[in-house]
Amino acid sequence: MSKRLVAIGGVAAGMSAAAKAKRTNPELEVIAFEKSHYVSYGACGLPYYLAGWIDSVEKLVARTPEKFAKQGVTALVRHEVVEVDYPGRRLRVAALDEGREFWQPFDYLVVSTGARPVVPPLEGARLEGVFTLRQPEDGVAIRQALATAERTVIIGAGYVGLEVAEAFRAQGKQVTVVELQDRVLPNADAEVSELVLQELERNGVEVLTGVQVEGFAGDGRLEKVLTSAGEIPAELALLSVGIKPNVELASSFGVATGPTGAIAVDDKLRTNLENVWAAGDVAESRHLLTGEPYWLPLGDIANKHGRTAGTVIAGGRAEFKGVVGSAITKIFELAVSFTGLTEADARAAGFEVKSVWIKSADRAHYYPDPHPFHVKLVYETSGRLLGAQIVGHRNDALRIDAVAALLHQGGTVEDLRSLDLAYAPPFSPVWDPLLVAANQAK
Ligand code: FAD
Repeated sequence: MSKRLVAIGGVAAGMSAAAKAKRTNPELEVIAFEKSHYVSYGACGLPYYLAGWIDSVEKLVARTPEKFAKQGVTALVRHEVVEVDYPGRRLRVAALDEGREFWQPFDYLVVSTGARPVVPPLEGARLEGVFTLRQPEDGVAIRQALATAERTVIIGAGYVGLEVAEAFRAQGKQVTVVELQDRVLPNADAEVSELVLQELERNGVEVLTGVQVEGFAGDGRLEKVLTSAGEIPAELALLSVGIKPNVELASSFGVATGPTGAIAVDDKLRTNLENVWAAGDVAESRHLLTGEPYWLPLGDIANKHGRTAGTVIAGGRAEFKGVVGSAITKIFELAVSFTGLTEADARAAGFEVKSVWIKSADRAHYYPDPHPFHVKLVYETSGRLLGAQIVGHRNDALRIDAVAALLHQGGTVEDLRSLDLAYAPPFSPVWDPLLVAANQAK
């Protein structure tokens, strides 16, 4: 008899695991249950859908249930797993549109339930006009509300909040960003935050930092956001103050979480329970610089987690070694990228830290239309690289990947300095900004 793999949650991690397991072992029966209306969608594209640059939310879907069916994978939307009977190796599924429940037996389980936005217990947080953004359904509801809204408030100046600020400006809306901490992109170092603030203000975004949102008020629907700095009239507000992993279902049948609050897994994405894997935003990774468990809820990681779990479940060989914390975000004409540890995080982790912050350009000085290119390098006093942040123009910031590759190898400032990087006048000054930073560090 063939074995059955069931994935709980059918987006990046769940469907990667399902598809990879089926490809690796076609004998396996593979089912994914997804409670929303969509599987295999790219939530990362939602800000660009809100901007109006993508006309339909369906375009964010990589593969439909019909396409999965052709590969022999059953993907059932609007099916929520409500209970797991682990000793009995079965789970209780609610077919949400049919009003019925059934028990589904399994041999192998992948918990890929993702994460959800944090909704602080603020008065009026459930008023019409107050949103969070996570799933395609959220995007559709926000875009509809945006059609009649003029004044918008975004609470939280992390990368999702700022990407949406750009989207709302692209739709011609008034945008106020309210951030509790004293700067935008608080996970970056302060030099980066300052440049991002300038870019937001240059593009007409009002930014209030060090301000606390205290609630929302309105007669049936949002009319104003109440803050420690006074009231802000608004028809639409987005709560973007962080996310947390959906671990409750897994915890209910004994899956252990780690110090980050996400599910603890080994390098094969195995949990503490036999035949139960966890992948994606619901699971931890190992940080390759600190060696500690780390929560990096990002789409590329979720795909890699899922692929690894799927391969292993199907009897193949794979491992996910860990992360160095690479990420990139577009904020109007700027792109901001990260890899490794920020200076603040490196100090908090107990490293002896040094850093340099340089300003260069994205092309030769004589080539038309140059843009500033800023690099921050963070390194140990021993010379070992710990991280980098880049603020550049559009795709420029992707050059962070050279540093990410070095971090995976335990590289040093000297290693970076000796890299043979590509050069031609339209793409880089003759001294690549990364090399300038490394030279300065040296
Ligand atoms: P999720 O996408 O959270 O999917 C989990 C699914 O499980 C959900 O659809 C949920 O409905 C379902 N589920 C939960 N519980 C159950 C249950 N009991 N039964 C059935 N189904 C259940 N990442 C990047 O790397 N780069 C980016 O630029 C980027 N931009 C982003 C922008 C936005 C606006 C958002 C919201 C996210 C962005 N991300 C980005 C993060 C990325 O989308 C996530 O890391 C990725 O979606 C995680 O995939 P996942 O499969 O682990 O979890």
